[in-house]
Amino acid sequence: MYCDIILKNFTQQPLTYQSNDLIDSNKIGYRVIIPFGKNEKLGIVFKLASETSLNPTSIKPCVSICDDYPLIPKNHIVFLEKIARYYHISINELTLLAIPKHAMDASLKMPHQFFIHNPFSANKYHTQAKKVAPNATHWSTLYQKTNRTLLDTLIQSQAIIEAKHQPSKTHDSKLEPLNPEQQTVVSSILASSPSTHLIWGITGCGKTEMYAHLIQHVLNQKQQVLLMVPEIALTPQTVAKIASRIGFEPTPIHSQLSPKMRLSNWHKARHGLAKVIVGTRSALLTPIQNLGMIIIDEEHDDSYRQDGSISFSARDSGVLLGNLLNIPVILGSATPSLESLLNAQKDKYTLHEVRKRYYSGHPKISLVQLKKNEVISETLISRIQDQLSANQHVMLYIGKRGYSRLMACHQCGFQLRCNGCDRPFVQHLGNQLKCHHCDVSEPWVQDCPKCHQAELSPYGAGSQKIAELAETYWPQHPCIRLDSDNSSKLNVSEQLLALENAPATIIVGTQMITKGHDIGRLNTVVVVNIDQGLFAIDFRAEEKLFAELVQVSGRSGRRQETGHVYLQTRSPDHSIFAGLSDPLTFYQHILSQRQSFKLPPYDHLSCIFLFGSEKQLSGLTSLILPTVNDSTVLGPMPFPAGKRKNILCYKVMISNICRIKRDRSFTTIKTFLCQKKHARVRITYQVDSHLST
Ligand code: ADP
Ligand code: ZN
Repeated sequence: MYCDIILKNFTQQPLTYQSNDLIDSNKIGYRVIIPFGKNEKLGIVFKLASETSLNPTSIKPCVSICDDYPLIPKNHIVFLEKIARYYHISINELTLLAIPKHAMDASLKMPHQFFIHNPFSANKYHTQAKKVAPNATHWSTLYQKTNRTLLDTLIQSQAIIEAKHQPSKTHDSKLEPLNPEQQTVVSSILASSPSTHLIWGITGCGKTEMYAHLIQHVLNQKQQVLLMVPEIALTPQTVAKIASRIGFEPTPIHSQLSPKMRLSNWHKARHGLAKVIVGTRSALLTPIQNLGMIIIDEEHDDSYRQDGSISFSARDSGVLLGNLLNIPVILGSATPSLESLLNAQKDKYTLHEVRKRYYSGHPKISLVQLKKNEVISETLISRIQDQLSANQHVMLYIGKRGYSRLMACHQCGFQLRCNGCDRPFVQHLGNQLKCHHCDVSEPWVQDCPKCHQAELSPYGAGSQKIAELAETYWPQHPCIRLDSDNSSKLNVSEQLLALENAPATIIVGTQMITKGHDIGRLNTVVVVNIDQGLFAIDFRAEEKLFAELVQVSGRSGRRQETGHVYLQTRSPDHSIFAGLSDPLTFYQHILSQRQSFKLPPYDHLSCIFLFGSEKQLSGLTSLILPTVNDSTVLGPMPFPAGKRKNILCYKVMISNICRIKRDRSFTTIKTFLCQKKHARVRITYQVDSHLST
């Protein structure tokens, strides 16, 4: 017998070894030691085969098995394999994403025992036990905290006990009663057989409260729940909110946890100790022992999409996992993706609409026409002052970070652009030039390098400029700027939470403040400038901009008062603004456009990206791609938006209304391109591409 083994730092397909009588089909997902070159390495058993196409004499035998239980249960390996196959990504890479780094460390034993202090032990070790194991603690962590002798004593005296034998504590849940609309949604989800549900609920309608009720229901069934949020920044507040309702803290899983914490939380999920898991993309890949429901909040969010060499959608994979496990999947959003809406129209998902806010009415939206050279309209300056004087916060939303958006010469029109990607350099405070795409800085340039007649001037405002203006217009009030230059993702959430009791504050921020945050005393939101988004060539631009506007508007008036949103624009006639008061018509309009142009979500689209130098990519445009049934195939063509750090990008688009045919065509073209491309050209795939232009 042979077995395929997943290895660390390995991006290719798993390597084949002889199973050596050690490994049979019951050992899938176990950690094993295998020979590798002159050394030994740790791997994970992925698959067994009775035959191999390799020369059998060259295949080395496995050395030993590490643990007495699988790191990844077999059914979860099946799930990972399905994702890898669907998205054409490496199972090896995907599996490594699903486990904490430390799990591939052979020196770390993986005992399945978790311990917790025994609340009923009255012996002399009680205090000590409570100190070392206040919560369910992994054996290896306890071992680090104490020493072997003490640990043995604590266990023998039953001052600490195995967590799974812990007398089950009943937590006092403090669920808020639901209003009739919310109750209808929750009851109908719980009454139906496991399937996928889409909650289309406007911002502030109480989606989180509904999730809390659903979670409590699953907990009563003694099962675990995974609640996914799109951004790490949203985990602390979601954890806090859910904890306040169910009576204990959910377990976070995301990439900003320390490695030890990640390992510990991962194990708790893996072994059924973490009852509620709140996490981002990678949490979905975690094997959760006894999963009873998956909730995906803000399901439309692009952050659920991982890009690069392993491009996959955590939302769609979540739906797949729900189907495999036969458990309900709940997708929630105020601005659902067209994909999910169409699935609801086709009755693949059950749609639940909630059109009423819990506390107040819809925010009132006003368009404010900007005059020439105005950044913040004069009419708004005094209104904002009134709000601040009434001890209310005000939010100024701007899509770009930095000081100005571009530096240009007013004499000859020259624009300072990054060599690496051809995008304009953004001016930052302290006369710095930065390219956000390539993540590089350049020395400051004052005189126009082209005509030498004039100095370059800044155009367009970024968050730094808006914060500066805020300080001049409303000097008596504090202003916080939240963008990725000065705030880590976790930090944003903390700063917004701190506003609860702070004096009236002006919040200037970029995308990171639009999502999910629930801020009190915030009734006024100003969208400083959205005009660039209105005329983008990207076919998804309108959908995305719409979601952005609805989400940012939704931050206002979340308590008793009505929110007021001011959209500053120079194009007040654009159709997107009408859509804000009538989303249904807006969505229908976009959907019918997509259908007539054979675009997603109707046709299924996949892309192949090729990266390299001009020379390496030069033959691509003259390649004649193989003919493939009735799929639409475009390219290879230059894809300027993909250029980065001087590496050029070409793209091939393949679409078909039938997913299976699309995949067949994709596979044919992928194989062809892999054979024909220059050896140094890097190739990546995006199945169900969310990119567009
Ligand atoms: P969403 O996630 O849909 O934007 P939230 O769940 O954050 O909305 O709800 C908005 C506000 O209304 C929150 O402060 C929330 O606590 C409150 N709220 C919603 N539903 C209820 C309820 N049934 N009982 C008490 N408060 C509620
Ligand atoms: Zn650049």
